[in-house]
Amino acid sequence: MNQTLPIPFDAREFQQELAQLGAWIASYYARLPDLPVLSQVSPGAVRAALPAAAPETSEPFDALLADLDRIVVPALTHWQSPNFFAYFPANASAPSMQAELLSAALGVQGMLWLTSPACTELETHMLDWLAQACDLPARFLSSGRGGGVLQDSASSAVLCALLAARERATGGDGNEQGYRGGLTAYGSSQAHSSLDKAVMIAGIGRRQLRKVAVDANFALNPDDLAAQIAADRAAGHTPAFVCATVGTTSSLACDPLPAIGRICRDAGLWLHVDAAMAGSAALLPECRALFAGLALADSYCFNPHKWLLTNFDCSCLYVADRHALTAALEISPAYLRNDATSAGAVLDYRDWQIPLGRRFRALKLWFVLRRFGLVGLRALLRRHLELAAALGAWIAADERFELVAPVTLNLVCFRYRGSDAQNQRLQRLVNDSGRLFISHTVLNGQHVLRFCVGQGATGDSHVRAAWQQIAHAVNDLNI
Ligand code: PLP
Repeated sequence: MNQTLPIPFDAREFQQELAQLGAWIASYYARLPDLPVLSQVSPGAVRAALPAAAPETSEPFDALLADLDRIVVPALTHWQSPNFFAYFPANASAPSMQAELLSAALGVQGMLWLTSPACTELETHMLDWLAQACDLPARFLSSGRGGGVLQDSASSAVLCALLAARERATGGDGNEQGYRGGLTAYGSSQAHSSLDKAVMIAGIGRRQLRKVAVDANFALNPDDLAAQIAADRAAGHTPAFVCATVGTTSSLACDPLPAIGRICRDAGLWLHVDAAMAGSAALLPECRALFAGLALADSYCFNPHKWLLTNFDCSCLYVADRHALTAALEISPAYLRNDATSAGAVLDYRDWQIPLGRRFRALKLWFVLRRFGLVGLRALLRRHLELAAALGAWIAADERFELVAPVTLNLVCFRYRGSDAQNQRLQRLVNDSGRLFISHTVLNGQHVLRFCVGQGATGDSHVRAAWQQIAHAVNDLNI
């Protein structure tokens, strides 16, 4: 690549470099189990290693690979490490990487059906496949009034759902006149912060977001929800939107959907269900009870980019009434009009999301579902559930520790029976060891350690070694 005028695609060179890249990725994955999980670099280290300005002339591919090893890898927190137990999993997998590369190679812009029918129709079909595989209510299938769409994130999904709810509640006035206030939204005190962000962006206002009380297991209390809705109505507000969660971020609490759904149905509120990580567990028949009541929801979101071997970004948003969503987000400038759209014969996903442009994300699901099969995906999820249950049992049997929430799926919330400062120190000790990475939350006002099992390569030996490391680190707490 030495000529002045670049050749964007040189087939021979591309194939050679792809082989090199494949070898580099294979070697990275081979090294992963031994790399310090949490990056150990200091702030500014990466920028200090980079040249101050872009190169004037073409550099060899080898130089880039060398700098990946020299600059990038040491400054990574290795999300794909089998010893990564923090936050939530952000699964990658070979089929998903291949499809991601293809998406880039095809360079498709799927804003309209017309701009690449395969991009739209494969997406609709994959969302239907997943809905069926998870036994989601039929109202979310594209064969009826509903359907699914891929968003970049659960945060975008809840924002789109809230905008649809706002427009439904204002009869479309929000978009036409400018939203003039008065609506209220509800989520438990444990709902994800993306709900707060959505009410900010949608103009509802944070003060109009009610935090509903939770029970001893951190699940939303429906009596408090009903009471807050009634109080708001009495005070002249218009209750419009509830976000329930299956699998809260802090402790994987599952809100009681049937009771919440009935309240929303009777009071005419939009119910959105956020199952960002836990939603993948709906592939398992034995976990479906957590999703009972979903048929009462207007929208539902889960993230294959968390726990379904599909790399970020790939968030599924389902709606029971797709017209409610498109009514809120549709725009139709002259330069995008076309016969297929005008005939109402196609879905145009630009009307289901905030941006106009969109890339070919459905390829990832297609590759992942076909290469692993539902049987393979279920087997992996079950392995994670077993490992989390085993860890929960070890912790429960060790009197120095306590479980802080039930181990419902793949998250174990626990603490050393001591002060917050000791738990913070314990967390630092294990994370600084580089051998594993766990994160924390605050539950009942206490610092709680979160151990989330969900990486593709995590096995019994990794969880066992991680627990030994944690249990051993207690001896260094200087108690
Ligand atoms: N909802 C829940 C319950 C989550 O746990 C998370 C991520 O941690 C999110 C929403 C946000 O996900 P995203 O990064 O896809 O916006």
